[in-house]
Amino acid sequence: MRPVSTHEQYEGRVAVVTGASRGLGAGLAARFAERGVRLGLCARRQPDPPPAADPDAVVTAAVDVADPDAVERFAATVAERLGPIDLWVNNAGVLEPIVPLRDAEPAALEAHVRTNVLGVLYGSRVYARHVRAHPGRGGVLVNVSSGAATSAYAGWSAYCASKAAVDQLTRVVAVEEADAGLRAYAVAPGVVDTDMQAAIRATTPDVFPAVERFRRMAETGAFNEPDWVADHLLALAWDPGAAPPDVVWRVPDQPR
Ligand code: NAP
Repeated sequence: MRPVSTHEQYEGRVAVVTGASRGLGAGLAARFAERGVRLGLCARRQPDPPPAADPDAVVTAAVDVADPDAVERFAATVAERLGPIDLWVNNAGVLEPIVPLRDAEPAALEAHVRTNVLGVLYGSRVYARHVRAHPGRGGVLVNVSSGAATSAYAGWSAYCASKAAVDQLTRVVAVEEADAGLRAYAVAPGVVDTDMQAAIRATTPDVFPAVERFRRMAETGAFNEPDWVADHLLALAWDPGAAPPDVVWRVPDQPR
């Protein structure tokens, strides 16, 4: 699938992006704003509105996605201020702990699962309820996954497990909510140069044996830009005929 849009179909739509204070989420928000999408943005630190955004068309909030009540309140506020939500992107995620499982602290494992699994369950739940509360509109749910959902990386037990959970919970939502017109996708964005990648490159082979591969990617600039990922998500959501064939999908590598 390639973005083939003329962009009019994005104007005025309402999208939520979690984890929008930096990294991929901030990049998605910036591109969505350039395309005229109205935005609900959250992270634990309240995100800045993207430069291209009309201030009246952005809602930002400090929300921990592991807090189900906070996620529900955020969805209600966005809908009240901007109208029904057309696209919900559960992007917030963490990578840590990066360490062999035998050395991982239980508290670190729990914190990871709270954000990466419970956070996506809560966001997906709230959005499924939202779509049902607006019959006839439908909606698109994107849960940001990773190649780690299917590849086993030593040092990433929690991350590999949480992203596999994201893929599978998204498949279930797709089945449960199809009759409400909700399309659900688990999307691996490819490798994007963010704080998360910097943290990966700063590890050592004793805790993360594949670290050299990620350092080489940085040397060659072999990344997907957030704009590239954003364009694919917009196309997936609203370009006629551009929806991926499967619930679980990976953004193609950006040509360079
Ligand atoms: P990042 O640079 O570390 O940014 C993560 C974002 O998530 C931040 O905005 C952070 O903001 C937010 N966040 C973390 N925990 C949160 C919580 N409990 N509640 C609300 N917001 C929270 O990571 P990234 O690289 O942009 O990753 C974004 C997504 O892409 C993640 O799901 C990641 O697994 C996925 N991904 C990334 C890559 C890559 O190469 N970068 C590859 C595959 C998949 P606060 O700290 O302010 O909360």
